[in-house]
Amino acid sequence: MKKYSPGAVKHINIRDRDIGRPLSNITTNIKFETLIGDIKKVLENGEIIIQEIESTEGKIYQVMTSPYLRKRDKNVYGAIITFYDISELKRTQNELDKTNKMLGLATVASEMGTWSIDVQTRELIASDRLRAIFGFPIDEQMIFESAVKQIVDEQQSLFLSSIDEAITSGEKFELEFPVHGLQDEKLHWIRAIGNLTHNKDGKAEYLTGIMHDVTDHKLDDMRKNDFISIVSHELKTPLTSIKGYLQVSLARARKSEDEFSEKAMDKANNQINKMTTLINGFLNVSRLETGKIYLNRQDFEIDALVKEIVEEVLIAKSGFNIVLLPGCNIPINADRDKIGQVISNLLSNAVKYSPKGGNIEVLCKELANHVQVSIKDEGMGINLEDQEKLFDRYYRIENHSTKTISGFGIGLYLSSEIIQRHNGKIWVESEIDKGSTFCFSLPLG
Ligand code: ADP
Repeated sequence: MKKYSPGAVKHINIRDRDIGRPLSNITTNIKFETLIGDIKKVLENGEIIIQEIESTEGKIYQVMTSPYLRKRDKNVYGAIITFYDISELKRTQNELDKTNKMLGLATVASEMGTWSIDVQTRELIASDRLRAIFGFPIDEQMIFESAVKQIVDEQQSLFLSSIDEAITSGEKFELEFPVHGLQDEKLHWIRAIGNLTHNKDGKAEYLTGIMHDVTDHKLDDMRKNDFISIVSHELKTPLTSIKGYLQVSLARARKSEDEFSEKAMDKANNQINKMTTLINGFLNVSRLETGKIYLNRQDFEIDALVKEIVEEVLIAKSGFNIVLLPGCNIPINADRDKIGQVISNLLSNAVKYSPKGGNIEVLCKELANHVQVSIKDEGMGINLEDQEKLFDRYYRIENHSTKTISGFGIGLYLSSEIIQRHNGKIWVESEIDKGSTFCFSLPLG
C-alpha cells in the first residue's frame, strides 16, 4: 500500500505503519483478501470493479477499485480503492424491502388488485391480480381505454368523471362499478379506492390505489334490498286499511263521546303514522339503491316549507323551544316533498337526540348562489369520528346515551342522497355535550 486518505483512518483503521506493507499483511476491520482478486483484475484490464463488503463491526461499505492512470500514457500504475459507507442506505433498503414484502403478502392474501394511472397520459399500470379481476389474459395488454370498455355502458361516464374529479380535486377516489369479465363474460362488481401521489415538487403524478371484486357482497346486498322492498310493500297494504278502520272508529268514538276510546284510537293512530314513516323510509332506501328515486321539481319558497314542518314537529313534540329564523323568501326549484322530508328528518333528530330538551334554532339563509338551512340543537353532540360516517346507510352511533333511543340509521342517509341529487351539500358541525348543527345548501337557479 502506498497512500491513504484521512477517511481511511477513520473508517478502516489504516495506520502509517501500514504504508509499504502488502495488503495481505495488513489487518484492519476490512478483509483485504477479498479485494486482492479485484485489484489484480484492475491492474490487468484497467476496468473499474465495485463490490460490497461488510466490516468486522457490521458496517457495510461499497468498495470501488479503479485503475491509477497517469496522463502521459495508458498504462495502469496501480489501483485506487475507495470506500463508501452505505450502512444507513442498506438498512433503509432492507426495511423498505421488508415493508414491500409484507404489503405484497397482504395484497395477495386480500385478493386485491393494485393500479396506478398517470395523471398526464392516463397510462394504466395494473397488477396481475387486477388483470385477473377484469379477466384480461396475462399476455394481453390492459390499457386504460380497454379497461374502461369492460365497464357496463351506463356506468362508464360516471367512472371517467369520478377519475377526473379525483385528479382535479385531489380528493379520495372511491367507486363501485359493474364490469363484464372478459373471459367468463359474467358481471363482476368492483370496488375501487385511490389517492393522488405527488412528486417531490408537489405536482400530482399518479392516481394510485386498489380494486377488489365485491360481487358476492353486492349480490347479497341486492337480495337484502329486494327483501326489504317486498316486505315494506306487503306491510303497507294492511297498514293502510288499519289506518282506515281506526279513523272510522275514531269518528264514531267522538260522536258517542266515548273519551277513553277516542284517546286510545288517537294514540294508535300516532303509532300507525310512525310505522308508516318507517316503512316509507325503508322503501325509499331500496328505491335509492336501485336508482328508482326521481325528483319531482317545482318552484316553492323554502321559508314556507320550513315553517310548515316546524309546526308539524311542534304539534308532536312539546317541551322544546323551536325558534325559526326565516331569511330566504326567494323561490327555489326542487322536489318540495323530498326537501320537506330532509327538514323533517333533521328536526326530528334534533328533538330525539336532545334528551334534556333545550332550544332548537332553525335558520334559513340566502347566500351568493344558494340557500342554506341549518338546524341547531343543544343536545348530546357527535364526536368527529362518527361525524364522518353519519350519512352512511344504516349507521347509528352506539353509546350509553343513544342506547335507549330507537332508530335504524336511514334518516341521514336518505337526507344526504336527496340533497346530493339536488346537487346540494349536507354537513354537520358538532361538539360532544354541547349540541349539533346540521346544515344543507341547495343551488339557486
Ligand atoms: P336514526 O336516528 O334512525 O338512528 P339517522 O340516520 O337519522 O338514524 O341518524 C344516524 C345517527 O346519527 C343517529 O343514530 C344518532 O346517533 C346520530 N344523530 C343524528 N342526528 C343527531 C343530532 N341532532 N344530535 C346527535 N346525534 C345525532
